[in-house]
Amino acid sequence: MNFSWIGFSKLCFLLSVTFCTLLLFLISQFHIPWRLRHYPPPVFNGNCERNCTLPQLQSIDSKLSSDSSDDIASFGDDKNPEKWRGYSLRTATSHFKFGNLHTNPSSPLEGVLKNTSVSSSGKEVLELEDIFIAVKTTRKYHKARLDLLIKTWISRAKQQTYIFTDWEDQELRKMAGVQVINTNCSSVHTRQALCCKMAVEYDKFIESAKKWFCHFDDDNYVNLSALHHLLAAFSHSQDVYLGRPSLDHPIEAADHVRSDGSTSVKFWFATGGAGFCISRGLALKMSPWASMGNFISTAERMRLPDDCTIGYIIEGLLEAKLLHTSLFHSHLENLQRLQSVLKQVTLSYGGPGNQHNVVNVGGIFSLQQDPTRFRSVHCLLYPDTAWCPVKKKL
Ligand code: UDP
Ligand code: MN
Repeated sequence: MNFSWIGFSKLCFLLSVTFCTLLLFLISQFHIPWRLRHYPPPVFNGNCERNCTLPQLQSIDSKLSSDSSDDIASFGDDKNPEKWRGYSLRTATSHFKFGNLHTNPSSPLEGVLKNTSVSSSGKEVLELEDIFIAVKTTRKYHKARLDLLIKTWISRAKQQTYIFTDWEDQELRKMAGVQVINTNCSSVHTRQALCCKMAVEYDKFIESAKKWFCHFDDDNYVNLSALHHLLAAFSHSQDVYLGRPSLDHPIEAADHVRSDGSTSVKFWFATGGAGFCISRGLALKMSPWASMGNFISTAERMRLPDDCTIGYIIEGLLEAKLLHTSLFHSHLENLQRLQSVLKQVTLSYGGPGNQHNVVNVGGIFSLQQDPTRFRSVHCLLYPDTAWCPVKKKL
């Protein structure tokens, strides 16, 4: 009895030692290293879909420094173009400290900056109404995304904002009227469907008499005053293409427009998810490859998505340059770390599965009340909005 009890204890001891060894072995096998992820270098295979830019963008953004200037600034009152001219120049040049990751050194920023003496003399003053604002959306996002934009920034730019969708929605039409454009493009997230919408956006802009074409997605907040002031620093009759590159290097693609694909072309493009703007002067030059259905055939021949095709036409074919700006933001970057939120031209928010990726603004609505943070941003920019909380007097 005594012997068997000692034997049993020994057996238990041996079993527990074996179990612990096994456990230690398993932990070492499945241990997740606590270090930065290293992404493989980008490979461009001629099929540059927007999502493939995520790894590069994340790694660039980790290098972003913070702007120590105040978060809350009213651009609406600041009608001084000289001041803004300095601001936009600083925005561009500030990237040099990151080894030119954001600034294309050959971007002729100085060359296209408007002569401020012209604008101050009243010859060429840009009004918000001169900007054609295109918002791309789709049937399933009319409620989920567009409603929020209509309640916030679109409500402040009703006359110049055009909504490009793929479905006839009576409710939306009641709200936005002729500004809703049913492109009749397919409502799928394919290269062809997205290029079809961009083609309609381009044609509608050309039809309009506006000076600037700006494209945004339905998950962008557009700070209208910041956009207005940024564009006012340039001349719309010159070649201006402004946006955020999604890669830290130009992409290279086989050129199926100017050759049979045996030569390649390198160009920068502004990521559509952060929005971009093109001057009328440049947009007109794009016409042979962009107007009346030509945009779709250019994109098809190059096998490029909409935003890349824009970059190809401008940089590759017209040899104009993308002016890189860090004032435009998509949800492919870390938005939580973004400083000076109210000075940015565009903002975005992370979708399902990445809901924490929103800009940091406190004090107005809680995260539960305002998960995208767009309502809070809007109330900070336009405190007189009817649904914004009334600021308590101290
Ligand atoms: N979109 C579209 N058709 C679709 C899916 C999306 O026109 O079938 C639009 C959508 O409304 C948005 C843009 O494409 O303006 C980008 O979509 P999303 O934000 O879902 O994708 P991502 O930013 O990841 O490219
Ligand atoms: Mn998006």
